[in-house]
Amino acid sequence: MSELIEAIIDKAEYEHSMSLEEIVLLLTTPEAEKLYEAADRVREKYIGSQVELRGLVEFSNICRQNCLYCGLRRDNSNIPRYRLEASAIVDFGRRAAELGYKTLVLQSGEDEFFSPERLGPILSELKQLGVALTLSIGEKNREEYESLRKAGVDRYLLRIETTDKDLYERLDPGMSWTNRVRCLRDLKDLGYEVGTGSLVGLPGQTIESLARDILFFQELDVDMVGIGPFIPNPDTPLADADGGTFDLACRMMAITRLLLPDANIPATTAMETLQPDGRMLALKRGANVVMPNVTDTDYRKMYMLYPGKICLNDAPADCRVCVTGKIKAIGRTISVDQGFRRRRTFVKEQ
Ligand code: SF4
Repeated sequence: MSELIEAIIDKAEYEHSMSLEEIVLLLTTPEAEKLYEAADRVREKYIGSQVELRGLVEFSNICRQNCLYCGLRRDNSNIPRYRLEASAIVDFGRRAAELGYKTLVLQSGEDEFFSPERLGPILSELKQLGVALTLSIGEKNREEYESLRKAGVDRYLLRIETTDKDLYERLDPGMSWTNRVRCLRDLKDLGYEVGTGSLVGLPGQTIESLARDILFFQELDVDMVGIGPFIPNPDTPLADADGGTFDLACRMMAITRLLLPDANIPATTAMETLQPDGRMLALKRGANVVMPNVTDTDYRKMYMLYPGKICLNDAPADCRVCVTGKIKAIGRTISVDQGFRRRRTFVKEQ
């Protein structure tokens, strides 16, 4: 590894800053081990050894959008569609809370049926379980975000997917990149903890645009960053694309940890699809969150964003036991609180 690369990593580890050119170098240098070690040290210093577990409820796979990379796109007629009853959503939430989850992540396609009015009573019931609530249901207007926040939602996940505006609008027909950024800014303004992130390896995506994604996360000072390798879905127009790699997704994640040292960063499920035990490797490279699925297996098979999704046949209780065992086996502990971002002051070291 060159002295220049080592100097960039050293500076970023203590100053949490990097230029676009420096990020590009780290994304392309042949050897990433020093980067991963630095990201792991920063995670230990700012977050500690605990891993946050978030229970994921996939409550509707119906989507009005048509993103070229996603299996839930509206033109995909190869998957059966489902929409959980309110009582079923609450039931999954209750069972997750009984398994010890302190945060629930409610995720769906952009399903207009679930208006804030319909979600409100569900959110109120879930809130009584003593859990933090995260929503991941796509683009809404400011009033809708405001109403959901008032209904008790603590966090919101909305990946920017890519900061390359032209690429975004090519891959997400009918959607506006500017509106997506507006959503993220509104969410921040309304007091949500905000999560965003990228898909790594999209056709036409450049290394420079990936580097800009990381600077965008830092500029927005987001609370959570989810990085996933793009995995082509055979039921989409991008079926024959090459897709992203585990290595590049890990580098993106590790650099993000250096620049946003106290953010919550998940070891994403898509990483484990590409690499056996990929989530545990990601936890050793800067990540501190895992999001086990707490939806029943029948629904998981229909929530097919990409092929090869892991744990399709594992009951929620089994997932909990399995993931806890794996986390403990790498010397980490399970967090017992709701896992909000603990902001730390960055002290420049000499
Ligand atoms: S990425 Fe999101 S908005 Fe786009 S088709 Fe998939 S679920 Fe819908």
